[in-house]
Amino acid sequence: MIPPAVPAAVHPLVAAFLADRDGVREVLRCFGSPVHLVFPQVFTDNLAALRGVLDGRSVRYRICYAHKVNRSAAFLRTAAHAGIAVDVASAQELRSAVGAGFAPELIEVTGPKGAAMLRTALAAGVTINVDNLWELATLAEIVAPGSAVPVLLRVSGFPGSSPSRFGIDLRDAGAALDLLVRFRDRLRLLGFAFHLDTAATTERVTAVGDCLELIERAYAHGLAPTVLDIGGGLRQVFTADAQGYHAYDHALRVGLLGRGPAMHWGNNTFGYHVADGMVHGGPVFHKYANTETAPALLAELLDSPLPGHGGRAVGSVLADNLLELWLEPGKSLVDHAGITVAQVEFVKRAGNGATLVHLDLSRDTVTAADQEVLIDPIVLSEEGESEPAGVYFAGHLCLERDLITQRQVRVSRMPEPGDPVVFANTAAYHMDLSAAQASMHPAPARVAVLHRDGRFVLCPDADYRPGDR
Ligand SMILES: *Cc1c(COP(=O)(O)O)cnc(C)c1O
Repeated sequence: MIPPAVPAAVHPLVAAFLADRDGVREVLRCFGSPVHLVFPQVFTDNLAALRGVLDGRSVRYRICYAHKVNRSAAFLRTAAHAGIAVDVASAQELRSAVGAGFAPELIEVTGPKGAAMLRTALAAGVTINVDNLWELATLAEIVAPGSAVPVLLRVSGFPGSSPSRFGIDLRDAGAALDLLVRFRDRLRLLGFAFHLDTAATTERVTAVGDCLELIERAYAHGLAPTVLDIGGGLRQVFTADAQGYHAYDHALRVGLLGRGPAMHWGNNTFGYHVADGMVHGGPVFHKYANTETAPALLAELLDSPLPGHGGRAVGSVLADNLLELWLEPGKSLVDHAGITVAQVEFVKRAGNGATLVHLDLSRDTVTAADQEVLIDPIVLSEEGESEPAGVYFAGHLCLERDLITQRQVRVSRMPEPGDPVVFANTAAYHMDLSAAQASMHPAPARVAVLHRDGRFVLCPDADYRPGDR
């Protein structure tokens, strides 16, 4: 059986770039294979869409691009050029943000920080998004009296949300407020922050409600917070055909049960648990099923009625209370703004009869940590479609686990050596999160692709400057 296709959603600009097969081969010749391609103009489109949602609701806001989603200098400079802020989570990211031109007022440091990182952040004069009580107490100790360092308190432990290893538990908020009152000449409370790794709007509404209560409590302590930071977590849309996703998922489960051809390699179950003739649980690739865009999710949140506020929407309550909404979008800003292109080395048959298409990259270069990517790589063959087949894409490391797809993928004809293979939508976490340089393979080049005056222009990522002609 040939597996169902799960076509990737591709931005029109990226599709136009890929339509020129010779152009793609030329890029591989110039920059080597594999190569990461980033599209700053798609980033700009994504930013405009989020701004559109916020501008339409008269709420004051600040967008902080979450740097950790991708190392790209082109994305970072595009963000700086657009006048938004940035969220950094390491000393290296902080240096990179300063280098890209962000003023300290527009830099926020998030995540847990050791003493060295706290000192680095203080020296840079940036806003500190405090992760825990130790951090808050340590900051109070090391800053000079009168310095009024701007801080946000990240809180967690909202009823109904999964436990988080980050943030100050709601029950410890009182202790945090006491510290802030005691050291009010040293630390200036800007407001409260959270970051939930979920698409569920109801959970975010609960968190917003709890943060508003904390703002009230802070006022009662004589503090004057003005910011509510809702973090990131807005979803991406990966597939162009949600039905294809569901058909594939179904075929995979039938295969896992042994009631149909196996779509999985070896003992992989992708997070499913197979027992009693049933497939239980949820798969690691569930995020690839999402069809709700980030702007739609943001609009849904802002328009949701806030319990305890007379049914008024989140956006109106924030506006009426003159609060500033901060967002820390990562993946939603780079959605569709990056692809990774590799090449077929050869095709072989494995002992179990499976067809392995060997590529010149490894799984960790295009896969987010423990995930299986449930959108199909795009093979740019010289010839048209012929005989469709089911294949596994294999990586270039001498490790059994270096199968780029641990599932069979439908291809519309058998790939040939030299064919470019495109991994769509890799900019968010897929390119960088787990990439290792095992077996001394060098890191792929990262190249910015610009559409100018009707043609595509390429520029090494590190050299890209927005506004240059
Ligand atoms: C990772 C992270 C983000 C970005 O999250 P996305 O889901 O990519 O939007 C924002 N804020 C914090 C604190 C993070 O750790």
